[in-house]
Amino acid sequence: MATIGEHAVVLGASMGGLLAGRVLSDYFDNVTLVERDVLPDSPAQRRGVPQGRHAHGLLSGGLQALARLFPGLPEELAADGATVLAGTDLSLVSLTLGGHTLSLDGEPSKPIESYLASRPFLEAHVRDRVRAIDNVHILDGHDAVELLMDDTRRVTSVLVADRNGGPGRAIAADLIVDAMGRAGRTPAFLESAGFGRPAEDRIAVAVAYSSQLLRFAGNTPRDRLTLVGPVPERPYGGSLFAYEDDTWLLTTAGMNGHEPPGDLPGMIDFVAEFMAPELVESLRGAQPLGPVATFRYPASVRRRYERMVRFPDGLLVFGDAICSFNPVYGQGMSVAALEALALRDCLDRGADDLGRRFLRAAAGCTNTAWQMASGADLALPEIPGRRPASIRVSNWYTQRVLTAAEDDPVVTEAFFRVMNLVDPPSRLLHPSIVRRVALGASRRRRSGQPAHAKPAVAVPH
Ligand SMILES: Cc1cc2nc3c(=O)[nH]c(=O)nc-3n(C[C@H](O)[C@H](O)[C@H](O)COP(=O)(O)OP(=O)(O)OC[C@H]3O[C@@H](n4cnc5c(N)ncnc54)[C@H](O)[C@@H]3O)c2cc1C
Repeated sequence: MATIGEHAVVLGASMGGLLAGRVLSDYFDNVTLVERDVLPDSPAQRRGVPQGRHAHGLLSGGLQALARLFPGLPEELAADGATVLAGTDLSLVSLTLGGHTLSLDGEPSKPIESYLASRPFLEAHVRDRVRAIDNVHILDGHDAVELLMDDTRRVTSVLVADRNGGPGRAIAADLIVDAMGRAGRTPAFLESAGFGRPAEDRIAVAVAYSSQLLRFAGNTPRDRLTLVGPVPERPYGGSLFAYEDDTWLLTTAGMNGHEPPGDLPGMIDFVAEFMAPELVESLRGAQPLGPVATFRYPASVRRRYERMVRFPDGLLVFGDAICSFNPVYGQGMSVAALEALALRDCLDRGADDLGRRFLRAAAGCTNTAWQMASGADLALPEIPGRRPASIRVSNWYTQRVLTAAEDDPVVTEAFFRVMNLVDPPSRLLHPSIVRRVALGASRRRRSGQPAHAKPAVAVPH
């Protein structure tokens, strides 16, 4: 039952586009997803998502949002082989953030789950769900070339071109959504149409990734997820994820010009500096599956569409096209899932002023994740950028939270829930947590250790 219009078109059918399409299908008679790649029928890497070869963590808040958009999806992921960590299994997660190793031993007081699976596996499951929606049509192998407007300056159609050649054609729609990722052309379109460009927040993180898919013949690591984040004197780190089908992904990442090696022996030597010797030993015996993949990510970019004075009707922007987060914090897919829920709320309230309402709501979904990521980036002295007092104070407190978390499972759990976008950051300022954080710091002082170690992850102020 359409309540908003006849036709919505989503440009891009990666995670962002699929999630937007899912929501729009409840409010429009027909939804068309235009995707440049020819989409595979099963989990497979593809050209338009080169990041799919690198570690992709789904935060628990993102998983919960996906479950609301696609009831039963987590169960399907589990049945098809995703690694599921819940309850005491969370002790199989080893997180070292800002130089502090967190302990997730013991049963959490409130349920929280972590699902580990490769990016192609996750995207294929979401895509299958979207393909099964009757009023959604996927036009793959087609490029979105240009947005077109009518005399009232409303966006009314998009020009698309078949990548196999043939004439371009215009597809008319009541609503068009740019989900073409960080390279999306909406800023250039808005400028040429006289609306101006959105302001941008940008942090030049210069992240370089090398990743290798592996299988262990024996000597399988105990922990299903190991993550060691960067610290100021070592702006690089790495992770090892247990994925579906007994595969594991080793990802090494450097920031600000620190390039990890592009070969497996070199990557193992690289992580030997900061991962446990027995894990490094296991890695030396692992069998590589395919070649090492590399990726360079110059800067996190947040486009402030919500601050534009004028924005055309008939157009929305979604996912990475709004905000591309430093990938080392694993936030993009989860924020896209939260944006999809926000879009649903906005559509529930009708079509009036939809663009402005959604872009504001999406900014709300983005804020926490952006502040966490940018705070952590700016805690590294190597990363250029202004550090206002709010960031310095929040980084100062985060160091103390992480210090306390090393020995206090209550603080660890609170931090884990905030980092996973399940609880708001204000949870870490609850008097019961503040008290424990202060106790942790004084415990450290008594034992002669500094209360703070290395700031490299931050909670928003
Ligand atoms: C190295 C790396 C690691 C990451 N790790 C994580 C992680 O651990 N956890 C996490 O949650 N997120 C991670 N992300 C971010 C995550 O991949 C994105 O947030 C997520 O894919 C949602 O993005 P999107 O769909 O908006 O855009 P994208 O995934 O970039 O997809 C854009 C889509 O648009 C299509 N397209 C582009 N131009 C056109 C056109 N002209 N016409 C038609 N189609 C077009 C592309 O083919 C593609 O399918 C990572 C990103 C990178 C770069």
